[in-house]
Amino acid sequence: MAECGLLVDYEWCTGCRSCEMACAVEHGFPAGQCGVVVCEIGPWSYGPHGERWQVGYQPAFTDQCDLCAARRASGALPTCAKHCQAKCLEYGLLDVLVGKLGAKTKQSLVALG
Ligand code: SF4
Ligand code: SF4
Repeated sequence: MAECGLLVDYEWCTGCRSCEMACAVEHGFPAGQCGVVVCEIGPWSYGPHGERWQVGYQPAFTDQCDLCAARRASGALPTCAKHCQAKCLEYGLLDVLVGKLGAKTKQSLVALG
């Protein structure tokens, strides 16, 4: 049963893909494989006059994410969390992260390892 995870706050995710790059480099994944994939949602317009826009990004975690087990064993943060300049990815104990859910929208909680 997972004890730790990542709280993803994707409101300010810029789609920079630094998390993908950091993960691939850390684990030596071949091109096209990664522990996290940044999904682009949109763009499309909506509303009565098409005056509003859906455009955003959301990191999704794959089966190859081991929550950076080797780094965590040495006391380091998962590398995606370390390299996200927008602070979208918070690593911690699930009990603690669950308590932060609901403070705002555009959050997701990933239970891993
Ligand atoms: S926690 Fe580690 S393995 Fe998982 S996506 Fe982030 S960098 Fe990759
Ligand atoms: S989660 Fe962070 S590092 Fe990844 S694409 Fe979004 S802003 Fe960039």
